[in-house]
Amino acid sequence: PKYVYDFTEGNKDLKDLLGGKGANLAEMTNLGLPVPPGFTITTEACRHYLAHGGMPDGLDGEVAAHLADLETRMAKRLGGSDDPLLVSVRSGAKFSMPGMMETVLNIGLNDESVLGLAKQSGNERFAWDSYRRLIQMFGKTVLDIDGDLFENAIDELKGAREDTDLEAADLQRLVETYKGIVRDKSGREFPADPREQMDLAIRAVFDSWNAPRAVLYRRQERIPSGLGTAVNVVAMVFGNLGADSGTGVAFTRDPGSGQQGVYGDYLQNAQGEDVVAGIRNTVPLQELERIDAGSYRRLLEIMATLEGHYRDLCDIEFTVERGKLWMLQTRVGKRTAEAAFRIAVQLVDEGLIDMAEAVTRVTGDQLAQLMFPRFATQGDGRRLTTGMNASPGAAVGKAVFTSARAVELAGHGEDVILVRRETNPDDLSGMIAAKGVLTSRGGKTSHAAVVARGMGKTCVCGAEELEVDVAARRFTTSDGTVVEEGDVISIDGGDGAVYLGEVPVVASPVVEYFEGRGPDDELVAAVDRIMAHADSVRALGVRANADTPEDAARARRFGAQGIGLCRTEHMFLGDRRRLVEDLILAVTPEERQAALDALEPLQTADFSGLFEAMDGLPVTIRLIDPPLHEFLPDITDLSVRVALAGDEARDKDRRLLEAVKRLHEQNPMLGLRGVRLGLVIPGLFAMQVRAIAAAVKRTGARHAEIMIPLVGAVQELEIVREEAQAILAETGVEALIGTMIEVPRAAMTAGQIAEAAQFFSFGTNDLTQMTWGFSRDDVESAFFGKYLDLGIFGVSPFESIDRDGVGRLMRIAAEEGRRTRPGLKLGICGEHGGDPDSVHFCHEIGLDYVSCSPFRVPVARLEAGRAAL
Ligand code: PEP
Ligand code: MG
Repeated sequence: PKYVYDFTEGNKDLKDLLGGKGANLAEMTNLGLPVPPGFTITTEACRHYLAHGGMPDGLDGEVAAHLADLETRMAKRLGGSDDPLLVSVRSGAKFSMPGMMETVLNIGLNDESVLGLAKQSGNERFAWDSYRRLIQMFGKTVLDIDGDLFENAIDELKGAREDTDLEAADLQRLVETYKGIVRDKSGREFPADPREQMDLAIRAVFDSWNAPRAVLYRRQERIPSGLGTAVNVVAMVFGNLGADSGTGVAFTRDPGSGQQGVYGDYLQNAQGEDVVAGIRNTVPLQELERIDAGSYRRLLEIMATLEGHYRDLCDIEFTVERGKLWMLQTRVGKRTAEAAFRIAVQLVDEGLIDMAEAVTRVTGDQLAQLMFPRFATQGDGRRLTTGMNASPGAAVGKAVFTSARAVELAGHGEDVILVRRETNPDDLSGMIAAKGVLTSRGGKTSHAAVVARGMGKTCVCGAEELEVDVAARRFTTSDGTVVEEGDVISIDGGDGAVYLGEVPVVASPVVEYFEGRGPDDELVAAVDRIMAHADSVRALGVRANADTPEDAARARRFGAQGIGLCRTEHMFLGDRRRLVEDLILAVTPEERQAALDALEPLQTADFSGLFEAMDGLPVTIRLIDPPLHEFLPDITDLSVRVALAGDEARDKDRRLLEAVKRLHEQNPMLGLRGVRLGLVIPGLFAMQVRAIAAAVKRTGARHAEIMIPLVGAVQELEIVREEAQAILAETGVEALIGTMIEVPRAAMTAGQIAEAAQFFSFGTNDLTQMTWGFSRDDVESAFFGKYLDLGIFGVSPFESIDRDGVGRLMRIAAEEGRRTRPGLKLGICGEHGGDPDSVHFCHEIGLDYVSCSPFRVPVARLEAGRAAL
């Protein structure tokens, strides 16, 4: 295979092979935009390297040929002594992983070429500064030397001065110090040979694919671990040549709100890494117009070209070298959830995309974020300061100052806000653990901002008035207020406000809109249009899991087309426990019937309420499922009560205690529950069916569906079905009778079960539990963390359907069920019904509907639409 592509050979659709950065550099090159020349080493080479621990045959020669070509075009030699070509070696995977992998700049410098660079640039200081940066980056990333050693050395040299005050002689001395650090810590000299520098840097970039922070980021973002990264070797251009140079980041629209305009940050006399790291404070991009009007105009032209070409918001990294503009990167930019919806419809209105494409440009996760509550405008919290609104949401928690502490406290169930001067990739675990992130430095494109937006985490950055003292675990405001670790603060990612204390939160306008009393604003209008289109194209129906008329009514307002699961056991709690106790304690058939007779009218009223709330839409009522002992008092409490009362103990308490002991099971989730209960307790299911029939008659409901839980064999279902059918016939009521598929045996014998079932609904909570053998009640806390670390799965199978295992069972059951009974109605009512990936899977295997909690209904509608496109 071909492992190296010149920028003139690639294009934007080759992201799998060239990574996002490489593919887009090629695209811009071919658009005739000013991209420094270079070439990309493919992800395929990386995968080979990682699998075999060495570079593939032929790569070395290809790199040499492309380098020679680059040297010819630039009329310079890599590391040449008179006028050296310098290159950067940059990572770039298919999916952007901001700051997670390595980059080395200024490759080609050594004791000779630094003199050539000084002469050519006419700037000795710049040449030595570039050289020390190379040794520093190379030492840290390639030779694995602790970066602080270099930082400390420069701090020591600087004393009270700014780094721009360092002179050529200072930097020359620093180079010697740095070389000493390399010698001491790595046991080797800093390599002077430019090609060796380049080769080692390429390896280091490949290796950084498996750096712990990259692994963690991929898991969080659900990026497959086997993709590998490409490497881009790019001729260096310099933003640090003086005041007529600089570097910046630009967005074609505001990634926070979607507003059109000029958004970005610019940093004069600096290299690109300085901006993203948030190390020095930047100026707004508009200032570039004053600094260098020519470059500014050219940049605006290029932004327009890129947005027209990509038909989407683009973000851009650029450098100005002595008044000449260079494009270092572009990509379709990350954006907040709000911006995603607004931009999608703006682009439709501008004629760049159609509604179908607009629906694919937003996600269910983004919609879910918009449904988060926000801060009430009037709060008790005292406003401490305002930073930049880098990522939306309202976060309240205890201030913590290190990632480790964030992880620790979050592990104890505390809400924390991670407060840092700036974040770097090592803070990732803390950012994941925290409710929100607050930094005192860095703009909207700083690491904290980019990563938080990607994770959908609230972030306020660049709150410059805050003096953050990580060592002392506190920050101080300009008026002298001190906030210590553990003090509660509230941060508003919408307007950048930082409050001391807890600020109360209010519902989101999008929820208000779904509730039917929404404010009329641009965001809500965008959501409305996109939802309408998603609804018009989706094949999947969307129902809700609801047990009360209130939940049912909300679900309908949110767009549910029926109830896919009413868990009737929720109707046996509270005051009704006493009636259930009577049922369990009944000795004679008469006593039992009396207990059931007392429950029946209550159930009839329950079901009538649901049918009324759903007004003719289908309602699936699941007969009682959990083990009976769940309705009895706790065995320890009851034993103590009986023992203390001695001979005085109430007869009923004694009998209850006996029953608790008799019903005790080692594994109740695998015990007497679901259909088993219906078969063992005479009259229980019949009472529920009678109540359903009465409620249908009372309300005129047209689509009642009776669902039998935990069936594993068609024989179980047949017995219950015959009894139910007899009651329906007797009362003259029509209702479907179907079953849940939640035991693996049911999935494997679905062809038989479909003989007795008019519909299936996949109970993927139990199906996952029984397929993996993981207890759904215990397992997530116990060892899932370890399993995630080990990469056994990238996301809990209780959260997102395990396609290979549980999903395969579903596929088999769907196919074989429909072979027996063409047109068999299929749905899902486990938690997965509201998970975006699982919704797509349900679409793929041809289910008729998904059912999820009322709040997830809009998410499921949107994802069902996306799945259909
Ligand atoms: C299921 O098992 O997926 C289901 C919906 O039933 P429950 O969660 O009530 O056991
Ligand atoms: Mg279940």
